[in-house]
Amino acid sequence: MTTYPIVETFFSLQGEGYWTGSSAFFIRLAGCDVGCPWCDTKLSWPRDRHPSQTVAELVAQAQAAQPAFVVITGGEPTLHDLRPLLVALKAAGLRSHLETSGAHPLQGDPDWVSLSPKPFRAPVPDVYHRAAELKVVIANPEDLVWAEAQAQRVPASIPKFLQPEWSRQDLWETVFQYVQAHPSWRLSLQTHKWLGLR
Ligand code: SF4
Repeated sequence: MTTYPIVETFFSLQGEGYWTGSSAFFIRLAGCDVGCPWCDTKLSWPRDRHPSQTVAELVAQAQAAQPAFVVITGGEPTLHDLRPLLVALKAAGLRSHLETSGAHPLQGDPDWVSLSPKPFRAPVPDVYHRAAELKVVIANPEDLVWAEAQAQRVPASIPKFLQPEWSRQDLWETVFQYVQAHPSWRLSLQTHKWLGLR
């Protein structure tokens, strides 16, 4: 029986990126080796400090919520073999959206891949063509250069977002103006934080 270390599960709305505002059930997997200094989920980093749940338990919770889709996030979900979970979600009629930095090979076939590459551990090459959206967090002005380099590697047709890092309010106007001047990008805001929700 396949199990995963789980930080939390919860029913909410997708707060950022292409599907902002949509009903979503979140599965937050434990474990991350990317090490973003501004990470807002550092409690998820140690994979062995969180209780495990079976695939059946996770799918049952998601089915009870009846969301538009299930978000598999972390931590860094690609540290795990996601195939059993993805197969079970699909068998239950649930759409799966994966949020990943792309730091490790992606195992399985989610319905949507939100790629959020991080300069601290760059994506593996094979993940770029799997991306359905690109979402780059801007925590420093230099990250805009990184974002442009990442945009060159994903399919040209997918939506591309710049998302100001929540604690760097001094950069919000910079990102706003950058998107104005570079219309291939869109602005993504963490709306759940604005609303005080998770
Ligand atoms: S990849 Fe995500 S979970 Fe991992 S350190 Fe960066 S922001 Fe945190």
